[in-house]
Formats: sequence, structure tokens, C-alpha cells
Amino acid sequence: MSQDCIFCKIINGDIPADVLYQDDDVLAFNDISPQAPTHILVIPKNHISGPEALGESDETLVGKLVRVGTDLAKERGLTDGYRLVMNNGERAGQTVFHLHMHVLGGRTMTWPPG
Ligand code: 5GP
Ligand code: ZN
Repeated sequence: MSQDCIFCKIINGDIPADVLYQDDDVLAFNDISPQAPTHILVIPKNHISGPEALGESDETLVGKLVRVGTDLAKERGLTDGYRLVMNNGERAGQTVFHLHMHVLGGRTMTWPPG
């Protein structure tokens, strides 16, 4: 738990969120400002500031984030493609410094991202 972290507050139930899945390790909820018809965030329940803060012991956890994200995408019928995104650092667009994976789908995506 990090005192000023908005995602830790969601994990603790101090801030409400539209939770789609949770277990001991991860929480998945709808993004408050969706950038696609489906926009889910999948986060670890322990505070990790972002991708570059991951250590060797987190490798299983990261795999689980991806698996939970793909399961949720399948549940939502995103059979024709979706995007998994992790922003690392301010210049990449990271605004919340608690590791999270975006699951975006339900519309055609462009490449390269902006
Ligand atoms: P980032 O820009 O760091 O990759 O992604 C952070 C995401 O968190 C953004 O898409 C933003 O809309 C979302 N977000 C920020 N605050 C909240 C919140 O309080 N609740 C929810 N559900 N999403 C949030
Ligand atoms: Zn946190």
C-alpha cells in the first residue's frame, strides 16, 4: 500500500471502482475515462510503481496480469482483436504510478499509437 496511490485506494475499497475480477494477486476494473468501448485496467494488488520496477520475482505476476486481461477480453466477445498496453514513464503517458495493463477493444486500433 502506498499512501497517495489512487489504485491502492481502489484496492483497499477507499475509492469505488467498477470491479470485473479479483483474486489474491490482481484486480481488474473499468477505466474511469474509457478510450475504447472496452477499456479495462488489470493491476497487481501489491504496489509496484510501473514496468521498470518489476523484479525477477514478479515474472509470474506479470503473466497473470496478461492472462486475466485476455480472459476478460474473451468474456466480452473481443474476438476480432484488442490491445494490451503498459505505459512506462511520463513521456509514454503513464499518469498513475501503480503498475497497470490496459485492455482496449471494441473498435479498430491504429498503429503506431500516438
Ligand atoms: P496511464 O495513463 O497511467 O497508463 O493509465 C492510467 C489510467 O487510469 C487512465 O486511463 C485513467 O483514466 C485511469 N484512472 C485514473 N484514475 C482512475 C480512477 O480513479 N478510477 C478508474 N477506474 N480509473 C482511473
Ligand atoms: Zn499503488
